[in-house]
Amino acid sequence: MFNSIFSLSFLMVFLLPFMFNWTTNLSAAFFWLTWTTFVFSFSPTRVEILGTVIVRVIFFALPSTIMFLFDMFLPAAASVFKRRGVEGLPGGRKTLNLRQREFKVAGWSLLNLATSIVLQGTLELFFHHTLGRKTMLKVSSILPFPGTWAKHLLLGLALRGLLSYLLHRFALHHERSPFISWRHGTWHHCLRVPYPLTAHYDHPLPYLIHKFIPMYLPAALFRFHALVFFVYLAIISIEELFSHCGYKLFYPIPGLGGIGARVERHIDDNGHCNYSPWGFWDLLAGTYNGNGDDDDDDDNHHHDHYNEGSGPGRLGSGAGGRGGGGGGGKGGKGGGSKSMKWGPTISTGGTLSRSS
Ligand SMILES: [Zn+2]
Repeated sequence: MFNSIFSLSFLMVFLLPFMFNWTTNLSAAFFWLTWTTFVFSFSPTRVEILGTVIVRVIFFALPSTIMFLFDMFLPAAASVFKRRGVEGLPGGRKTLNLRQREFKVAGWSLLNLATSIVLQGTLELFFHHTLGRKTMLKVSSILPFPGTWAKHLLLGLALRGLLSYLLHRFALHHERSPFISWRHGTWHHCLRVPYPLTAHYDHPLPYLIHKFIPMYLPAALFRFHALVFFVYLAIISIEELFSHCGYKLFYPIPGLGGIGARVERHIDDNGHCNYSPWGFWDLLAGTYNGNGDDDDDDDNHHHDHYNEGSGPGRLGSGAGGRGGGGGGGKGGKGGGSKSMKWGPTISTGGTLSRSS
């Protein structure tokens, strides 16, 4: 029933213009031919991985890198568009030759992204080629029904949001998982502020737990059609691109500005709030901190929220992240009902303590 309603709705939406617009019809036929050629030219695993690489490059890596270089080499122009002005730049007020750490962060981010694609390919090879099971994604020249598109995209994004929330809060910010949370704290939470590419900046272990599993598990669970997966991945990539770029303008989708502010608040509050990208699960669980969703509020931020002494230059140094004393206090800044109940406070000694 659900399928039929969606199928009919989408057929009406998509097929009616097709009937009256032969150029659109021609484009659809050309698309189908290209896709069919692609599917018959490569093995299913190659189709999946090649498509993943293309989507990631177009919708995340390339635009993020351009934004990052714009921030680094034209800071005066970039700061005009930044939510936090000069403080929102990767190197803050530092001169270019002092920004080696930011390039290191960018390098790690791209390396993490590449690692997640390699892992995806490895899983396909293991389950499909070694164990002889079906491929994780359905790679077929037959296009999925419109209802399948809608159902899988909605279910996939909803489950990804839930998994992202649970893993971020209870694996990356929990005293019972010190091994992972310490790495997340000393890598990702050493950022002063999010900037382009940092959506994928973290220690590889918490990165794969927090980014790869919530992204890939729903697709494998529902066995997405490869085309549905590519659209799903494009949506996620766009969200990651704009939620971490720090720009206050040019949000293509309403709500992305709010995500960016909440991501900043998560870092400011030392991981005491805003664990899910779209805020829905935080609202339900009482960990939502919307203080800063409004661009005007960000003008009130003080750069003493940032720990200039810490940062990605401390990678692997064994040092902790932000000052522990500041973390707990900031958690309550957004209002009593908005702060979270659980979360690690990372002391300078690199140990974790529960914050109430
Ligand atoms: Zn975090």
